[in-house]
Amino acid sequence: MTGHPRFLMTPGPLALDDDVKAQMLLDLGSRDQEFTKITAFLRGLLLELINGGDTHSVIPIQGSGTYGIESAIASFIEKHEKPLVCVNGIYGERILKILELRGISAVVIRSASDKPVSVDAVKRALIEDKKITHLCFVHCETTTGIVNPLSELVEVSKQLRVKTIIDAMSSFGAIEIDAKKSPFDVLITSANKCVEGPPGVAFIFASMEELRREHSLVESYVLDARDQWRNFESSGEWRTTPPTHIIQACKKAVELLMAEGVARRGDRYKDVKQKIIKATEKYASPLLSCDLQSPVCLSLTAKGFIESQADFQKLYDHLSNSNIYIYAKLHQQTQSFRIGCIGSIKPDWITKLSEAFESFFSGADMPRKRGLSFSNNILKEVS
Ligand SMILES: *Cc1c(COP(=O)(O)O)cnc(C)c1O
Repeated sequence: MTGHPRFLMTPGPLALDDDVKAQMLLDLGSRDQEFTKITAFLRGLLLELINGGDTHSVIPIQGSGTYGIESAIASFIEKHEKPLVCVNGIYGERILKILELRGISAVVIRSASDKPVSVDAVKRALIEDKKITHLCFVHCETTTGIVNPLSELVEVSKQLRVKTIIDAMSSFGAIEIDAKKSPFDVLITSANKCVEGPPGVAFIFASMEELRREHSLVESYVLDARDQWRNFESSGEWRTTPPTHIIQACKKAVELLMAEGVARRGDRYKDVKQKIIKATEKYASPLLSCDLQSPVCLSLTAKGFIESQADFQKLYDHLSNSNIYIYAKLHQQTQSFRIGCIGSIKPDWITKLSEAFESFFSGADMPRKRGLSFSNNILKEVS
């Protein structure tokens, strides 16, 4: 191994558990029975986690989370269909972009990135436009960490006979999702968020009804989720080279998730989040109110001080000099930056984070001060 362990506090990829990493030391043959069994076992565990049993199946797709989104869109929306996309952050925008690239015309409901998607607005749109076939939305918009109302949105879609395609990339594993209580059609997650695995594979949960539905040509070999599913069901094998080491690690990661439980994992993240809020409160404040925050990541603002990527870069560099790695980009629209609460974050990392904030904001690296001095009151005044 090169170098020392980095203190990764980003909303995926994240600091992996040693047991998860250890699985990647074993080289397995991609079509060997031992690996085929690992894939089957992992799929079974994932399905159990979502209470998908006999109603749903799960299809691993090679690549990052976005490959899973694009695969789901390619496989479960036809060219002539009309999806409604809810957008309140960059991942909603990405769904829209993928639809556009595939020549599917969508309608959009936009809301501010610090406001959840409005169920009423969605309901009205679905009632007004009977041609809408799908509702696409992001469960936890990792842009700010805002949580959108999954069960209400699925319920309203069911009532109005519209299919649901959900990006649950950063919520699956930390927020309870139950395929029986919220019978979604398609839901996508990936290995490297709350599953706490390494990056490189996405998981598409799809209803048996959708999987068995006749679908016209997908116009992609690698993104054809239904074809991948048929292969898993018939031979247990992947169609093309699987990320063997990643799948081995994911099996372990999902076992650890099941042992911990989704609710308890969510609570662990919430606890980390509270500690980060405390550690940084002298200099930064949460963008979202408590009721809108997800446990996955925390969006902070330091208005008056960190307002551009250049300002933020100074903080980022200062933190990385202390071996702390937060998400590297400022969200311009809200002037917020993100700290991940997921993965194997050790308590002393948060102490180090606190010290690094202290030394940054009292040191020479500080961007602009605009005549303000630091105290909670003044920060409240400017934010
Ligand atoms: C991480 C994430 C994705 C996928 O991003 P990749 O970089 O492709 O893994 C999509 N949607 C949300 C909400 C995410 O948090």
